[in-house]
Amino acid sequence: MEFEVNNIEEIVELIMKKMTEGDIASNNSKNGVFNNVDEAIDEAKKAQEILFSSKLEMREKIVTSIRDTLKNHTLELAELGVRETGMGRVADKELKHKIVLEKTPGLEDLKAFAYSGDDGLTVMELSPYGVIGAITPSTNPSETIICNSIGMIAAGNAVIFAPHPGAKKTSIRTVELINEAIKKVGGPDNLVVTIAEPSIENTEKIIANPNIKMLVATGGPGVVKTVMSSGKKAIGAGAGNPPVLVDETADIEKAAKDIVAGCSFDNNLPCIAEKEVVAVDSIVNYLIFEMQKNGAYLLKDKELIEKLLSMVLKNGSPDRKYVGKDAKYILKQIGIEVSDEIKVIILETSKEHPFAVTELLMPVLPIIRVKDALEGIKVAKDLEHGLRHTAMIHSKNIDILTKYAREMETTILVKNGPSYAGIGVGGEGHTTFTIAGPTGEGLTSAKSFARNRRCVLVGGFSIK
Ligand code: NAD
Repeated sequence: MEFEVNNIEEIVELIMKKMTEGDIASNNSKNGVFNNVDEAIDEAKKAQEILFSSKLEMREKIVTSIRDTLKNHTLELAELGVRETGMGRVADKELKHKIVLEKTPGLEDLKAFAYSGDDGLTVMELSPYGVIGAITPSTNPSETIICNSIGMIAAGNAVIFAPHPGAKKTSIRTVELINEAIKKVGGPDNLVVTIAEPSIENTEKIIANPNIKMLVATGGPGVVKTVMSSGKKAIGAGAGNPPVLVDETADIEKAAKDIVAGCSFDNNLPCIAEKEVVAVDSIVNYLIFEMQKNGAYLLKDKELIEKLLSMVLKNGSPDRKYVGKDAKYILKQIGIEVSDEIKVIILETSKEHPFAVTELLMPVLPIIRVKDALEGIKVAKDLEHGLRHTAMIHSKNIDILTKYAREMETTILVKNGPSYAGIGVGGEGHTTFTIAGPTGEGLTSAKSFARNRRCVLVGGFSIK
């Protein structure tokens, strides 16, 4: 770092400014990034105590500052994420950052509730847990860190992030920017911290540290199981395999457009994205025709389908080399050249095909024919594997829409729209990147990161 100064006051002032801006680390914190897990948690604990003893106005200021500061870095984080992980699409990731900053609820989410009567006044309040350990995925690394930070701080907590090692730089950069935002408004240092070298061992240390009062895991089944067996309060946001059912009453042109848009969004990385189509026989051909008009490439050749299968799935799991990659790139690897307009590879399969039963996280979309909507509901339910995560349907039949919603039991159910409408993009409701099906919080927000506490005043204060 170079700067010109004339006297000692100027040097001190400049250093203070650089520290505030986050260019220089203070002694105990490198903008929230620590080498040692226990030290990071000790510092986060101190920060949480400061936050909890401050006015709520401070939390408001911090949340607003995170939104304002990070909105100038949406493209930077999107580009960094794609570059580092090799997954996703920059424009879609940028949009994800924008919605997470705009539509993640803040303090307004923490509603108090009161009972009053002859025996006095009892108030139910939402109180912080303390320091939360949040484990974040490679598929939405910075989006999840921003989303969790806003909700967790709004609820009065500090947080230590355990990012996916494959998204280390993106995650650290996000934590640094959040620290910058907190410092700008005079918030405590180290309210949001992380580890310079994320690893499973460091995550295990976070889970075991006695000062961690809540664990929040956003990722695959392994990590959700780990936090749920920790003996601590845990929120698990796990994998899905969202089906989309299309029946003969649907607006097929719109369904085709929505399915291609939702499935190809960020190259199918979102856990909510369409992962397989279940369509009624009488409309399948027209649906495929319309999907082709909207950027889908229909793969028919049996040999090429086998080639694709052996390439993208290894021992039943998606090969990381193809996860989140462009459809154009994947097709090129099996010898097919297409234009940039192609965003999804579609193919007809049986309901038992590995492409249908596996969460692929890439723009390869199997289509399964069924004789009618009732059979479709059964097939969609089987393919979702009881994960109760997300499902979509295109239909105008109220009975089928109702039956599907009831049978699927998913946390998110989108009717007549693309999957991302379920997280507030073109659909009503707030945004989150931590969708907690297994532990039941659903689309998490500040109140999910708060404890329910009761304060009872006996014999007074009722004015009924
Ligand atoms: P992943 O499970 O490989 O990793 C997620 C996080 O868990 C990472 O930080 C990783 O380091 C950590 N981790 C993995 N196994 C662990 C273990 N045994 N102990 C401790 N930590 C462990 O997932 P990913 O590939 O980064 O993300 C994709 C998966 O996450 C998909 O299955 C997707 O559906 C799911 N996901 C779910 C949500 C949701 O809100 N429900 C959101 C995003 C992603």
